[in-house]
Parts: sequence; structure tokens; C-alpha cells
Amino acid sequence: MKLKKTISIFVPHSGCPNDCIFCNQKRITGVSTPVGPEEAENVIIESLKTIDADTEIEIAFFGGSFTAIEKERQKELLDVANKYKKEYNIKDIRISTRPDAIDEDIISFLKSSNVTIIELGVQSLDENVLAQSNRGHNSECVYRSSELILKNGFKLGLQMMLGLPGDSIEKVNYTADEFIRISPHFVRIYPVLVIKDTGLESLFKSKVYEPWSVEKTVEACKDIFLKFARNKIKVIRMGLQTTQDIMIGKDVVAGPFHPAIGELIYSMVYREIIEKMFIGKGIEEYKGKIVEINAPKSQISKISGNKKSNREYFKIRYGIDLKIVAVEKGMVLRIGDLKEDISFLA
Ligand code: SF4
Repeated sequence: MKLKKTISIFVPHSGCPNDCIFCNQKRITGVSTPVGPEEAENVIIESLKTIDADTEIEIAFFGGSFTAIEKERQKELLDVANKYKKEYNIKDIRISTRPDAIDEDIISFLKSSNVTIIELGVQSLDENVLAQSNRGHNSECVYRSSELILKNGFKLGLQMMLGLPGDSIEKVNYTADEFIRISPHFVRIYPVLVIKDTGLESLFKSKVYEPWSVEKTVEACKDIFLKFARNKIKVIRMGLQTTQDIMIGKDVVAGPFHPAIGELIYSMVYREIIEKMFIGKGIEEYKGKIVEINAPKSQISKISGNKKSNREYFKIRYGIDLKIVAVEKGMVLRIGDLKEDISFLA
């Protein structure tokens, strides 16, 4: 299988007519000046120097709302990407934007500019959450733009957030269920963090907004991740990328920040799967024993849990000592004669 590599060009807040309550693109992307074609070209040239010739490459314009930038600058940026698409093995050009910055004209412009992947920052499909987050569009706009993107043969990515003002476990599950109905090619899940210099920081400081805890967030993300995985929708990211500024005490004022939040979520995913296997058979049979689990090599650390948390959990809760043994092939978990297909997690 070919290696895949993404050349990421961050276009912070550029062209965005909005001021979503949680957003400070400059701080989230770490870029504070508008990116022009020269900067984009430099990023591409420098990245290409480090990528092997037979790698499958994608050029991605992240951050901001790409299709809300002045048309001329969109064109300049995409022209740069296309210049290298012809010379190198560049398979995809990706942009991310707002649901209300997509229409027929924009779609045909993106098509003629060889864009193949469009990510929409949806965040929620609950009207009240959208309004309280100052998103400036309703849920109907998300369905319309998603349909237009899929109908025109693009790959569609949808981003959702957990813990926005007015949010609840029911509402994030509703958004996830609706995403499944829309059927995107992939999703990203972002727990809400309170970032400096945002409307959310003011709400937090005035005690109007209370962020979700790490525990609540991880539990909700686990359920949502499993929903997507079981419906064959790839989750390509959970949580903001930690940078030297995306940390508590730096640009993150409060919220469920954890440097390994993805690992915590995977730990909970496997905890649930294994616990169900035990319970299905009758947990009494295993209590107080050393129990061998045969598992794919690639999944061992996730099964063991972040800082061996799952081993500790089964030991304390059931007196079960998990002995995890790696097998070379197959996405299957085996405990004695019990077998669980986990290929949906691959
Ligand atoms: S639409 Fe996107 S870039 Fe614009 S303010 Fe909202 S989150 Fe930030």
C-alpha cells in the first residue's frame, strides 16, 4: 500500500464573515497573517523535499472558510496547488469551509480547479446550539451543501464539536446520527475547548458557560466514534492537535484538554467491547483469573489502555488479570472460544 502524506496550508480566518463563539483561528492554526500564493508555494516546495517519490500526496487548505475568501485569492492558491499537481504525484486537493459558503457556482469553480475533497465545519445540527454558538447558518444549510458536494462527486468530510453552549449528550448523538444519514466519507470530532480571546472565554469567565469534563467528553466521543465506525464512516481526527500553544495555561483557558485524548477514547472503545464479551459469556466465569486475549498487534496498546488503564480497570472491577497476546493477522479479538470481529475499527 502506498504511503499517504498531506501538505497542510493553513488559511486562518481568511474571508470568514462570521465570529463563531468558540473560534480564534489565529490561535488554533498558529498562523496570524493571511496566506498568499507565495507562502503556499513555499510550504509545498519545502514539504515536497521531504516526501518520497512514490507517496500519494494531498494538498490541503485548512482553517478559515476557503470559499469565502475573495475569489481571486482562492484562484491564486488553487493555481499554485495545480502547478504542483501536474509535476508531482498529487492525488487530492482539499479545502475546508462553512456550510453556507457552498452553492452551485462555488461547486463548479472548485470542480474546475481540481478540488476533490471538501470539508464542512458543521459543529452541530441542533438549531439552538448553532444559534448559541453564533454560527450564522441553520441546519438546513448543512443538508443542502452536503447534498450538493456529494452529488458533484467530491469526497465530503464533516466536522462536529461536543460541548458547545446549549449542547447535551442527546444533541451530540443526534448530530452524529444525522451525519450518518448524510453519509460523508469521513468525520472529525472536536471537543470544545475555551480558547483565549473568544466569545466563549467571556461566557466562561462570567460563569454563563461551563465546559464539559474530560470524563464526560471521552465517554460521549467513545459512543459517537463507535456509531461512525459501525456505519463505516472513518473518523480521521478526535481532538485539536496539541501544539506548543494549544495547551492549558497557554491558548487553552479551560475545557476537556488532554494531550492524548484520542488514546483515552480508544481505551474506552476497547474497554466497552471487551466488557461486553465477558458479560455476554457470564462474567463470573472469569473473575479472579488470568484471562488471555488474542488481539491484533496494531491494537495492543489501545486494548491495554492509556497508561494501562484497561488492565487496571478489569483488575479492580472484576479481579481479572488481562494477558494480551499479539497475533499477526486479522482484526479479531479472541478470549478462549469467544470471538469478536473488530474489522470495523481498522
Ligand atoms: S466559520 Fe469557521 S473560521 Fe469562521 S469564525 Fe466560525 S469557526 Fe471560525
